[in-house]
Amino acid sequence: MIEVAQVDVFSLAAAVTALLLAVALLVAYAINHRLKAFVWWAGSFGLLALWLATATLRLEKPVVAVLWFSWGSFYAAACLVAYGLYREGATRTSPLGRMLVCGLLFVGMATALTVLHARPHHWFLLGPIPTLVFMAWSAVLVYRVGAWAYGLVLVAGIATVTLLSLIHPGGLARALSPDRTPPHLRGGFGEGGDPGTAISLNPPPPPGGLFNFAPPPGPHPPVEQPLTVTLITVVALLAMAIALVMRDMLSELDRMRERSSIDAMTGLLNRATFEETAAILLRDAGGRPVHLVLFDIDHFKRVNDTAGHAAGDRVISRLGQLLRDLSASRGIAGRVGGEEFAVLLADSDLGAARQFADAIRVELSASDFGDDIGWGVTASAGIARHLADENLHSLTARADKALYAAKESGRDRIIVAPDTEGAQDWPSPTVRLAGSA
Ligand code: GH3
Ligand code: MG
Ligand code: MG
Repeated sequence: MIEVAQVDVFSLAAAVTALLLAVALLVAYAINHRLKAFVWWAGSFGLLALWLATATLRLEKPVVAVLWFSWGSFYAAACLVAYGLYREGATRTSPLGRMLVCGLLFVGMATALTVLHARPHHWFLLGPIPTLVFMAWSAVLVYRVGAWAYGLVLVAGIATVTLLSLIHPGGLARALSPDRTPPHLRGGFGEGGDPGTAISLNPPPPPGGLFNFAPPPGPHPPVEQPLTVTLITVVALLAMAIALVMRDMLSELDRMRERSSIDAMTGLLNRATFEETAAILLRDAGGRPVHLVLFDIDHFKRVNDTAGHAAGDRVISRLGQLLRDLSASRGIAGRVGGEEFAVLLADSDLGAARQFADAIRVELSASDFGDDIGWGVTASAGIARHLADENLHSLTARADKALYAAKESGRDRIIVAPDTEGAQDWPSPTVRLAGSA
């Protein structure tokens, strides 16, 4: 039967904070299953809560299993963070090797302290050292995922803990000084040994009951130390949680923005985004020549009807890929209908626009779609030059008329719209035929 003589209230507060963070992260994950990383963070914060809770207990008798459980959960939390970041792609090198090394160091150190019958204050080393390792690790990883400000907070925490453990009378300074502890309070598992500083004293518990805000008596470190370490831990936990939540939220926002602006099948802009971006480009065009090219696949219904919808999708994807590749850095391309596409070529003259449209037409008809489509799939295009002060609506209407003319005159060709909107003689002699005609 393990009897708890006293609880360190400050560390208990940190444990509760960690537990609340774990629950909050799980709730966030339950709401949005895309935030997979949150499960890792929830796991590690849960384990940290375990560590903090068990580390705060001042037991009646030394219970080795509790000590090992306590530090083991700490180590497991660190491992979970590292492995979670690895799985989430924040770091490319597998952390398994480092986890193993840290684990061995930890086990080696604890074993050495036990075997050497270390004095209670030597066990102090087991506290700050994993804390430092954990915080350093977290800082590096948080820095790597791009949240450098939070990484800096952790580094500041590490510096404080290090400084504290060096200069504090309860820290390294004391561990290295001559032993003034009465023999019956010395550490180790041997005769009269006491393997943890946070363990009971003789005579038993201090007055004040289980929850005692007074500093623990005897050779325990004074209360400022656990308080400082606890505060740093809470700040570090919060900083890490905020950093991770921000990172995941931001990447989720990016994903959502992308999903709402990109057509999934072709990777081109969707209609709304194309129109929005095109309107801005036209407004800022100044005197530079801009051309709009509209494409429509020929006899597409036949592709669907004879080869099936999946084959139709392959054709759409292929045309999308061609448009993406060939229009890159020359303008913007969008899927504006089922098998209708638009490209706004910025700063390119009519010759360049025709060349572009024809390259697409030729590449598409040369594409191999397998035996289920037994003919060369072609597309028609209409081109219109952007006139001074013309809006996107009017420009599109003229390009669409040219496309319609291309369809009417036999398909698999490109037609250029005349430069006046209501040209009486449409399709006029200014209409140029290209392609197979
Ligand atoms: P035209 O040469 O005159 O353009 O004839 P068409 O058969 O291509 O006629 P139209 O352009 O009107 O064809 C549109 C067809 O495209 C109708 C629709 O079923 C099909 N479609 C639209 N979106 C998709 C899609 O995402 N996948 C597939 N497979 N078919 C689609
Ligand atoms: Mg169509
Ligand atoms: Mg069509």
